[in-house]
Amino acid sequence: MDIKNLQRENIKTLRPYSTARDEYKGQASVFLDANENSYGSPLPENFNRYPDPLQLDLKDALSKIKGVPIENTFLGNGSDEAIDLLFRAFCNPGKDNVIILPPTYGMYEVSANINDVEIRKVNLLPNFQLDLEGIAEAIDANTKLIFICSPNNPTGNSMVRTDIETILANFKGLVVIDEAYINFAKQRTFIQELTEYPHLVVLQTFSKAWGLAGLRLGMAFASSMIIDILNKVKAPYNISQSTQDLALAALQNIGQVNDWIKTTVAEREHLAGLLLDLPMVHKVYPSDANFILVEVADANGTYDALVDRGIIVRNRAKVTLCEGCLRITVGTPAENEILISALKSLTN
Ligand SMILES: *Cc1c(COP(=O)(O)O)cnc(C)c1O
Repeated sequence: MDIKNLQRENIKTLRPYSTARDEYKGQASVFLDANENSYGSPLPENFNRYPDPLQLDLKDALSKIKGVPIENTFLGNGSDEAIDLLFRAFCNPGKDNVIILPPTYGMYEVSANINDVEIRKVNLLPNFQLDLEGIAEAIDANTKLIFICSPNNPTGNSMVRTDIETILANFKGLVVIDEAYINFAKQRTFIQELTEYPHLVVLQTFSKAWGLAGLRLGMAFASSMIIDILNKVKAPYNISQSTQDLALAALQNIGQVNDWIKTTVAEREHLAGLLLDLPMVHKVYPSDANFILVEVADANGTYDALVDRGIIVRNRAKVTLCEGCLRITVGTPAENEILISALKSLTN
């Protein structure tokens, strides 16, 4: 598969910005080449030097956890940066198109619109699985990307693995699998499949299971051809020194993260059972994520009543195939208890 020919012509010929550290990589005692403040920072810790543009220490630590080599790893300012870069590197505005599968994560559509790239929507089936026929019909010679969110936001389910494999086997553009919630899923990640599919991009994030949404750090795993293109297009210093330092420290605490994942999954099942017992609840969709999609008798009324009690969930009542639904993040046991007793106190 010719990944190089999938990219935009102007990206193919782009000469990327060359940083001071690209131009001199060795050791030295005096660095006067980057116009930094040579004295330090007005902080207890110094941030006066530009960070590593390729975040190699962090990627090295990450590769030990994920089993993915550094050259197959891209780090972005959230997964949202990787999503945007895929549009900017591969999609010709006003010419190419991408396929998204609603109801799904909103950023694919926003990023497409920002980049003036046509969106072809193929709704999920009523069971929230992939409509393979519809997807096949929507694809044409200008289709560059398909976004598959699995586990999907806001529905919570994982996509059937063999369906994703069918798309990987047949589609000639990039297949982007967004695994933001993979840590909570029974389904296993697709990162082990990277060696088989040069057109596969797997997105993961530090924002959910890792508890670092405030740092803004996302991962894209793909063939080195794709990673090289993303690195060429990204801003030179897209991940700050403080984010690199903190993420590296967080990776030392994976035990804590794994404990939280176990607790969250147990709490999710507990919460699902309690929700199902409420008369106002019509349906609790099975979840492979850290949230639950719930259909209630009056989504807007219930949403407002919860807001009045200081409890904020996500109102998905207007979303295709999620009519009447609220999306509820699994909280701590205490938070979940507050939610359930508030719901019990409502009459409808
Ligand atoms: C939360 C979420 C992300 C994470 O985005 P970041 O920019 O990494 O915070 C990505 N994809 C989906 C589907 C999400 O729900």
